[in-house]
Amino acid sequence: MKRAIFLDRDGVINRKGGPYYIYLKEDFVLNEGVTEALKYFMHKGFLLIIITNQGGIAKGVYTEEQMHEVHNFMKELLKKDGIEIAGIYYCPHHPDVSPCECRKPGTLLLEKAIKDFNIDTASSWMIGDSEIDIQAAEKMGIKGVLIPENGNMMELIVKPGLIT
Ligand SMILES: [Mg+2]
Ligand SMILES: [Zn+2]
Repeated sequence: MKRAIFLDRDGVINRKGGPYYIYLKEDFVLNEGVTEALKYFMHKGFLLIIITNQGGIAKGVYTEEQMHEVHNFMKELLKKDGIEIAGIYYCPHHPDVSPCECRKPGTLLLEKAIKDFNIDTASSWMIGDSEIDIQAAEKMGIKGVLIPENGNMMELIVKPGLIT
């Protein structure tokens, strides 16, 4: 079994604060400390898996295609530093339009990822900037670390030795 760091996307990997929904490459900016922290986690043998709510798709704000473009852009950016994202799981639904089981704090996306990669939940972590990230993780027996929106993962998690 493998261990993983599950990561929320908006506000954790990339900056949140300008446009509410990030679906254009121009609006996608990696948060400070992200590349260093992800490199550290990879070095420690964790798989990196993103679990993200993308309700703007259900609302018709952007398309799934646009989201994939942003994800490809993100993967290219991270690849420059040797970082590989093992998987990206997203919920395209929104409770106002299409209630579902996969939107966090629902656990369906985590369940899929755990199965796909044969993840040992007890030795895995979820990093999120919202209580719903942590709630979803804890339902699955994954330890959660809540950071402030756009918080520096390197300073807040790696340097204090929260995840080793
Ligand atoms: Mg977030
Ligand atoms: Zn969903």
